Amino acid sequence: MATVLADGRAAWERSGHLFVVADGMGAHAAGELASRLAVDLIPHHYAKQHQPRPIENLHRALIEANNEIYRRGQANIEFRNMGTTASALAILPEGAICAHVGDSRIYHLRNNQLEQITFDHSLVWEMQASGGVAEESVRSGMIPKNVITRSLGPNASVLIDLEGPIPVRKGDKFLLCSDGLSGQLNDEEIGVFMRILPTQTAAQLMIDLANLRGGPDNITLVIVEVVGEGVVTSSQVSLKIPRLPVNESSFKVGFAVVAAICLLASAIFMLVQQQVAALVAAIAGVISLIVGWIIYQAQHMQKEDKGERYGRAPYRRYVCNADAALVDRLAGTIQALKEATVENNWTKAGETLERLRKKGEDAAKERNFTAAVEHYSCTIVETMRLIRDTKQ
Ligand code: CA
Repeated sequence: MATVLADGRAAWERSGHLFVVADGMGAHAAGELASRLAVDLIPHHYAKQHQPRPIENLHRALIEANNEIYRRGQANIEFRNMGTTASALAILPEGAICAHVGDSRIYHLRNNQLEQITFDHSLVWEMQASGGVAEESVRSGMIPKNVITRSLGPNASVLIDLEGPIPVRKGDKFLLCSDGLSGQLNDEEIGVFMRILPTQTAAQLMIDLANLRGGPDNITLVIVEVVGEGVVTSSQVSLKIPRLPVNESSFKVGFAVVAAICLLASAIFMLVQQQVAALVAAIAGVISLIVGWIIYQAQHMQKEDKGERYGRAPYRRYVCNADAALVDRLAGTIQALKEATVENNWTKAGETLERLRKKGEDAAKERNFTAAVEHYSCTIVETMRLIRDTKQ
């Protein structure tokens, strides 16, 4: 992953704060090289681009990264066809923008609402989107979840999804993560942890939980929390692009003048009893008016089209509240951890676990699920920290 914070206000206004998560695929060394190249190359090329809109710069940066990863893959048999997911988020004065390929996700949390703002380029999602698959066959695991349909590197060209700009408010949080996280935790859990816990605790807890649930894959995540007014999207920021280079106003006026001359000529021909010429001039005038109007409409629509948001985010939306089921799941995890501390004689971790768990149990009894999640989360994070210390 890469996090590149703008160095000062002017730099932020130009290219914002940038965050990238990449998850390599293929043979171990190849996947590692591909994801390493992506997180190095995307910020590098993003900073070098000079397109009118930052989202175009970000798009270009992913294309450049693809070119380089593909080239390196072709040059060395060991790295042939290496690939990586890439999800990039930039927070700018116009809002948050994303460029994305693969199944690493970007989520946006506001209050208790979590939205996934990237579309998974996975077999499961693509099949669901095409309507060719029933929910049950997805849930039963008939379709492999880890097959991705697009990535950076294996091919000379790649289609990049663009999203945004999405207005940013104070208190908003964004999560970028690999499927090592989203495959082990469900979206509601992710939303609750991000909402309730301090950011650092939420990040550690989510990694610990994904590992405790089997951790079949490596886990990468970045949480972006909007703490100051400085990066909040002002309502004055226009989402429109700079005006088109065509001088459209003189263009429109040109058609209007031609129409006026034709209609005037038509009137004069009528006065001098030249009916045929009058008719021809009138028709020319009307055509000129219609053509001018069509061109005006087309330009107008094109402007609005380009000025609006890219992408169709959000793709999924969840309301995230701590509930009894989540509290029970965490209690179960803590019980399993407890048994592990006894079995391995991790005395200190075991004592800490008992002490912290008590507070969670009390809150759960009072049906204060938010407090219970808080205490249970601290129990897991703290116990895991002590276990790691013991094992070192
Ligand atoms: Ca993965």
